Amino acid sequence: MVLPPDGLLRLTPEGLYCPAAGAWIDPVRPVPRALLTHAHADHARPGSGAYWAIASSEGILRRRLGAGIQLHPLTYGQEFRLGDARISFHSAGHVLGSAQIRLEAGGESWLVSGDYKRQADPSCEPFEPVRADGLITEATFGLPIYRWRTGRQVVAELLDWWRDAPTRPSVLFCYAFGKAQRVLAELRQLGVEEEVLLHGAVHALIEPYRQAGVELPPTRPLAELDRGTSLAGRLVLAPPAAATSSWMKRLAGAQTGFASGWMAVRGVRRRRGSGRGFVLSDHADWDGLLRTVRESGARNVLVTHGQGEVLARYLREVEGLAAEPLATGRAAEAEGESSEDQELPGDAVPIQEERAG
Ligand SMILES: [Zn+2]
Ligand SMILES: [Zn+2]
Repeated sequence: MVLPPDGLLRLTPEGLYCPAAGAWIDPVRPVPRALLTHAHADHARPGSGAYWAIASSEGILRRRLGAGIQLHPLTYGQEFRLGDARISFHSAGHVLGSAQIRLEAGGESWLVSGDYKRQADPSCEPFEPVRADGLITEATFGLPIYRWRTGRQVVAELLDWWRDAPTRPSVLFCYAFGKAQRVLAELRQLGVEEEVLLHGAVHALIEPYRQAGVELPPTRPLAELDRGTSLAGRLVLAPPAAATSSWMKRLAGAQTGFASGWMAVRGVRRRRGSGRGFVLSDHADWDGLLRTVRESGARNVLVTHGQGEVLARYLREVEGLAAEPLATGRAAEAEGESSEDQELPGDAVPIQEERAG
């Protein structure tokens, strides 16, 4: 039997619910108590009574959900009690402050992975393997065709692409929370010390990273630069929605690129038509998913997001586990790539609207 004990985890219209704790994990509707795996818009939604999340995500959560939210900041590994449940948050390596959530009650433990990746990322804490009786894992890129190169390799190529265009600006489209800061942190590790220009939506989320001690090159909003200043040879980071907005007027003649895991999908790359594609994902690839399932020691696995059935069948038939897909009610995620295109165009990109690949 795959389902966790009813007292530990259960699916309700609000999302995944832990009756023992009286709390929901990444609820899709307002609830009294919300445990948040991370601050991406499809996981962190406004309106709940109280939130529990990793402290380094506080700055981003308050920007997105409201400055006045009731937030209980946590550190990784810190164990606390809520009702009859023992709960701890562990690093997921996805974005700054991202967590897997471990719940234990009635002698049974389950781990809810949230979004995660196994690759090194200088903009956030590394993934921590956690053991539990049962596991709910994401599978956004849950097909054997998805195998990532390191972020360092991809960003080194991106750096060459930028350096090869000294006479015009280079505009890289990437998600404003997570991806943009990962690119910046990798550039810094590659020795880049010159100023990078940012769209306002990216700029708004930079400060929490600097406060968390993540080393980034100097940055400045493009809007602060005097009109008429030459942008030749400058790198500009912007959210994907800016590509079709009037914001691009100032960047006429720029070379453009797009960084996302979805760039691994040829059809997406072609449809986007936004220049060079850099395959850079903040989700686990096929090997990363399998490794994580094995290291958890879980005998029961539920698979959410994207390619749930493929991974679940592999876990049943090859790994001998009890495994099934689980629909969590996050409809947008099931559609995968298409949900990335839901971003609204225009200068005032509502940063809440984006989700990351
Ligand atoms: Zn995410
Ligand atoms: Zn997600």
